[in-house]
Amino acid sequence: MPGFVNAHTHVPMSAFRGACEDVKDRLLRVLFPLERDLVRPGLVYRSTLYCLAEMALSGTTTFADMYYFEDQVAAAAETAGMRALLGETLIDLGSPDAPCFSDGLAYARDFVQAWKGHKRIRPCLAPHAPYTVDAAHLGVIRDEAERLDVDVMLHVAEMDFENRQFSQSHGSVMKYLDSIEGFLSPRLLAAHMLYVDDEDIALAKSRGIRVAHCPASNAKSGRPICPAWRLARAGIPLGLATDGPLSGNGMDMQGVLNIFPKLQKVREGRREILTAREALRAATLGGAEALGMGAEIGSLEAGKKADFILVNLDDFNMQPVYDWYSTAVYAMRPHNVESAFVEGRQILSERRMTGFDQDEVMAEMMRIKGNCSAFIADIVTKLADG
Ligand SMILES: [Zn+2]
Repeated sequence: MPGFVNAHTHVPMSAFRGACEDVKDRLLRVLFPLERDLVRPGLVYRSTLYCLAEMALSGTTTFADMYYFEDQVAAAAETAGMRALLGETLIDLGSPDAPCFSDGLAYARDFVQAWKGHKRIRPCLAPHAPYTVDAAHLGVIRDEAERLDVDVMLHVAEMDFENRQFSQSHGSVMKYLDSIEGFLSPRLLAAHMLYVDDEDIALAKSRGIRVAHCPASNAKSGRPICPAWRLARAGIPLGLATDGPLSGNGMDMQGVLNIFPKLQKVREGRREILTAREALRAATLGGAEALGMGAEIGSLEAGKKADFILVNLDDFNMQPVYDWYSTAVYAMRPHNVESAFVEGRQILSERRMTGFDQDEVMAEMMRIKGNCSAFIADIVTKLADG
């Protein structure tokens, strides 16, 4: 079958998976301090390789990522042989790889220029969110994306405080973004889209934006269910995504694909909507369309790139098969994936990565964990102290 397309993630965060779970305001109280002190190029490269192994082992062949030191993510994707849309994250207050916005923009520009034209790795710009990048900077990014002819990735309408802020000022987060002329455009890949109503969906469609839907990570955060079925029904390109390993934990697309139609059926209160075939489309061709790669990958068709996986049917969870789509969506698990190919080249062979030594990458992660443990324990203590 076609390889899965993971339409939104932050792969280097595999280093922090499982740290400080189940706390309020985790982004501001845990994640930002963690990143400021621990994220360095070496950690990004090694944690990415680790995460790419987990993704390929569960059948993902293409992913969209936004993080810091994104050049290291690109280098790791190159080593693994995977296909990717990669955005250097931009944030007003500075980041682990840039002390201020303009330095971040310069870093992003260099990153785009270094990787543009690569046959599997497509660089882009990734402003973090409407609440961390102001309107003037979003305008600068819009112009820069136009000049460089690249995509823009952004978290949209994910947070309750973000929704409150922009609903008060502009009616909704989407309406606020639309007030920045030309920002909502076919270049934009919007992740999440939780706080959107039918008017926002119509606006998204009319501006030609694309959406990455992260049902498992959103559910874990206790957020509203994205109206993904309605977005897809409106004709908006819709892909599925794990989100980062800190918020989504499992990096396998099966976990996401399994919960996606279930949550939509719950949200709409209708069993018959979102068939297994439609769900699987979102994890493959829909994701390819969301990444602007629909003409190249996402389905097994003559003329497309040979990105595909081999799945072992000879297992207790896979039989009997009456409907291939139902099996792939509801029964298949990561361990059923046997091999993966990207652009005709085998990147996973009988559950071993061909591009690097996965045992060495596992050992490296144990060393990273050793280095991060004291810092994470310190945050846990601070959280306990309130
Ligand atoms: Zn994200």
